[in-house]
Amino acid sequence: MPTFRGILLTKTDEVFSASVNALDHASLPVEGDVEVAIEYSTINYKDALALTNTAPVVRRWPMVPGIDGAGTVVLSSHPAWKTGDRFILNGFGVGETHWGCLAETAKLKGDWLVPLPAGLTAKQSMAIGTAGYTAMLCLMALEKHGVSPASGEILVTGASGGVGSIAISLLSSLGFNVVASTGKLSEASYLKALGANDVIDRATLGAPGKPLQKERWAGVVDSVGSFTLANACAQTRYGGVVAACGLAQGMDFPASVAPFILRGITLAGVDSVMATLALRETAWRRLATEIDGAKLQAISREISLDQTFAAAAEIMAGTLRGRVVVKL
Ligand code: NDP
Repeated sequence: MPTFRGILLTKTDEVFSASVNALDHASLPVEGDVEVAIEYSTINYKDALALTNTAPVVRRWPMVPGIDGAGTVVLSSHPAWKTGDRFILNGFGVGETHWGCLAETAKLKGDWLVPLPAGLTAKQSMAIGTAGYTAMLCLMALEKHGVSPASGEILVTGASGGVGSIAISLLSSLGFNVVASTGKLSEASYLKALGANDVIDRATLGAPGKPLQKERWAGVVDSVGSFTLANACAQTRYGGVVAACGLAQGMDFPASVAPFILRGITLAGVDSVMATLALRETAWRRLATEIDGAKLQAISREISLDQTFAAAAEIMAGTLRGRVVVKL
């Protein structure tokens, strides 16, 4: 029976285990009309939660984790995909309810795949991953609500993380004036090299604050939530826009309506998991042309399947900088 290497997460009688295994080809999910060879995957915050069993990300056991993958179609009965096509997969419950991409082989639905855009390698697409594609969705949300480089300063929270690092790089390449909020002030030179004009201590945003504060931000990309998001809203200038995509500090939102009803600010929610194919294709096409290849290389490092567990632990400890790419 042919096998392939992959990570398998199991839970039996509440006992969790995670290991690299030789997986049986016949055990691939029956749902799925495209079989693919995964060349690169990555570890996002959600993958770290799954790999460390920290939150109930996995809804079916056993599970192959990995919400992102890029590679080549091997077999297809989907009309849009044929053998040899290059693809990117992000989300859609893959790695949560459907076997994912931290494995050499996966069986996916053709409706979930996006063509790998010209100008981007499979490895680069995974250096970007869901984190970077979400950063692009946040940028598109700011633009949709009228924020431009001329509008003023853009705050990026969780700056040294995956979403934050790529948001800084993208925004600065487009000429925005970016202020990075981080808990790692020792990374200030890294954040400035990505394009941040200024770096602030996240402690200034992370505690309870007044409902309305001094107006500073024309736009915000927030991957942190909780008090940080509340304070970011309270500091957003009249008519400004806050794109909220994450919960690294917490899922709560201890805010008041004051910035909405007195300053007319907009809170734009950003979801990458179930985003439409049209939105995904636009985001990935833009990423292919707007990401700075040298900065992407500085943000990311390559690891093996066996090193994913240590990287997941670093994400959970909040010590991992930028992005990791997993070579299959
Ligand atoms: P990372 O772990 O790479 O980055 C998160 C960053 O948040 C850290 O590097 C750290 O940055 C900061 N941080 C960590 N803990 C805290 C804390 N307690 N208080 C304040 N800041 C903290 O994760 P990602 O960038 O991949 O994801 C960020 C968030 O976005 C996650 O919550 C994730 O679930 C969410 N997300 C949502 C998506 C969606 O579809 N809506 C898609 C992708 C991600 P620093 O040290 O610089 O402050």
